[in-house]
Amino acid sequence: LNVGVPKETFPDERRVAVTPANVAVLLKKGYSKVLVQRGAGAAADFLDSAYEKAGATLVDDAAAVWSRANIVLKVRGPSLDEVDAIQENQTIISLLQPAQNKDLVERIAARHATCFAMDMIPRISRAQVFDALSSMANIAGYKAVLEASNVFGRFLTGQVTAAGKIPPCKVLVIGAGVAGLSAIATARRMGAIVRGFDTRPAAREQVQSLGAEFIEVEIEEDGSGAGGYAKEMSKEFIEAEMKLFKDQAKEVDIIITTALIPGKPAPKLIKMDMLDVMKPGSVIVDLAAEAGGNCEATKKGELAVYNDVKVIGYTDLPSRLPTQSSTLYSNNITKFLLSMTPQEKEFGIDLSDEVVRGAIVTQKGDILPPAPRPAPP
Ligand code: NAD
Repeated sequence: LNVGVPKETFPDERRVAVTPANVAVLLKKGYSKVLVQRGAGAAADFLDSAYEKAGATLVDDAAAVWSRANIVLKVRGPSLDEVDAIQENQTIISLLQPAQNKDLVERIAARHATCFAMDMIPRISRAQVFDALSSMANIAGYKAVLEASNVFGRFLTGQVTAAGKIPPCKVLVIGAGVAGLSAIATARRMGAIVRGFDTRPAAREQVQSLGAEFIEVEIEEDGSGAGGYAKEMSKEFIEAEMKLFKDQAKEVDIIITTALIPGKPAPKLIKMDMLDVMKPGSVIVDLAAEAGGNCEATKKGELAVYNDVKVIGYTDLPSRLPTQSSTLYSNNITKFLLSMTPQEKEFGIDLSDEVVRGAIVTQKGDILPPAPRPAPP
């Protein structure tokens, strides 16, 4: 069987689905060829020469990948042009977001293809090695702090220098899931004073273990929902939370928001009146921008400026660290493919495997209903 890796076509996408190291792994495990489009890894600093050295078969264009590969590995879901290139019975694995891309799923099914969504892999312990959402969220949290520090006019760390005493920067991280915890750890390592908030009580210990302060509201309400994810909070809780943030907004220099509720628009937690009380030069990074944003001033994909407060709404943070994100994504997708290749050269789909069942979206043209969510880890 041949595996194919086309160059990503989504605008400004710098990641590549498979790195040279994983090309070598796939070949060692018995795949006949790994067809890599020339230049596929260039934006992530994986050069054609490295792919060649790892044993890849370099091809000149995407058409040569799509026409010859049995299994195509991608970062983003197929574009409309790519859908037209899909072969009957081909398998495509990518970050598909099937619930948000129903039309795309129907088009893939119409090509009689099988596709898997990396973002639908159940988040159970056994599947952590395939969990691209966590890998990418970790990078997004790290990069959020770097993006904030790039436009922030001061150090993050405090210093005593001959030219004067510099106070440490204060950072508030709202939402302490994978991305939030990564942002907290990064800001701490850079020397900032960090505060964290989440609606799930389990987050308190995780925030504190990173050396940050866990801030709280007085209302007692558990935000833990099904599968360990967050649920929507009561109006009273959200109001109390926003009051807390408004007080914090006067004090902190950087706010990083990551609050998400699966399947729902992101809660709006930072209102315009909070920006009014922030210090000039403060920065907000809204990691929920893709899901509508946690901040009212967020402009999706852009750096907006409101009253001298910079609001970063970039939605491509993992792609802004392309070598790292490609390396981790490639490990996730390669291990996922190999989990379905138990015997050398024998790729097989076992729907009784809850990880496979959770991630599969179409099988030989049939659209499969979404699998029920697994129990909390
Ligand atoms: P996410 O990206 O869906 O949400 C980010 C955070 O926002 C969550 O921590 C959530 O509680 C918080 N949030 C929601 N509404 C909020 C509000 N109004 N105010 C403040 N915060 C709010 O979450 P995630 O990073 O994908 O992870 C969520 C949970 O899943 C965590 O408990 C994590 O440990 C768990 N998880 C488990 C596995 C695994 O077992 N394989 C993998 C990844 C994540």
